Amino acid sequence: MLRLNILSLIGLLLLSIPAPVLSSMGQDAVEIMFSQEIVAIDSSGVRYEPVIIDPATMPGMTSQDFDLARGRSLRIVTNLPAARQTGLQQVARIVQRSYDFIEKRTGGTLDKGVLLYILEFETLPLSYRFEATYSTAAPWQEVRVVLLDQGESLVGPSGSADLAELLFDTLPHELTHDVLADISPLLHDIDGEASHYTRWFIEGICELLAKEFAQHEAPATLSRLLAMRNVDEVLGNPSVCNAIFSWAQQNDNGMALESDLYGASMLLMMAWTETVDLPHLLARLNQCSTPQCGLDLELLMEATTGSSRSEMVERARQIGAILLHSNYLVTRMAVDKQKG
Ligand SMILES: [Zn+2]
Repeated sequence: MLRLNILSLIGLLLLSIPAPVLSSMGQDAVEIMFSQEIVAIDSSGVRYEPVIIDPATMPGMTSQDFDLARGRSLRIVTNLPAARQTGLQQVARIVQRSYDFIEKRTGGTLDKGVLLYILEFETLPLSYRFEATYSTAAPWQEVRVVLLDQGESLVGPSGSADLAELLFDTLPHELTHDVLADISPLLHDIDGEASHYTRWFIEGICELLAKEFAQHEAPATLSRLLAMRNVDEVLGNPSVCNAIFSWAQQNDNGMALESDLYGASMLLMMAWTETVDLPHLLARLNQCSTPQCGLDLELLMEATTGSSRSEMVERARQIGAILLHSNYLVTRMAVDKQKG
């Protein structure tokens, strides 16, 4: 808890980067390094030097596999003592429901599992860098890490806030990316190459489904997650409205604008999917015979809703204004459920 209190007073940077590294693993397999860096910055801007966390050198590590159906599994690698591992089954059930939810809401399929490191520390490091290397041939859709305070509960009302955020927000967001990556006409930004300006669409859907999953599983955490995205005022901000359709992977945005653009994109996709069912929209994109860039998506939004771009941004702003104080998300999820 000490760490959270300190971090609320100082800056925090989170970088999660699956980065390809050179390898000699043969023609098909490439080594991927998953790295996550949390950098704490004090009020004068000085960065706390990160502690390197290498799971291969940590004592007391064990590994358990949980079935996620269709040949997929969740592997949890942890230093939790055996008596504390009973909650891992519950974690696995949430991950399974996340898979089911994302596949149902997108109409896509997820073929690989998750490698999850749950690491407990007597004193949590303020700044850290975690690295794990795996092969693209490995059966992992996602590789993630979460750190726990010693003795901290896994899930439930007094469970770890970091694990809750991973399970109810980050993981469904990333699984949605995995489904969208399989829609071949949809262009994705690649580092070092020119932007296709599809980010508002891609991140908007990922955020939308992550927040729907959080609503479904842990409604008590949802308002905090939505507030982090500033949803009630983000589209009243001209700099966000100006930046949304030209949002590129590589940009000079500050952390606040970048976070706001996630929220704004989510609201825009909420507005679009009020009139067009998401699985139908994605199936339609999948059938496109030409690559789809951001402008194509803007035109598709106008064509399928009968509203102009600025009318859709205004509708998204209205949704943002009521989202935190109404049943908007609950009601639209109930309607989606009736549609089956
Ligand atoms: Zn994303």
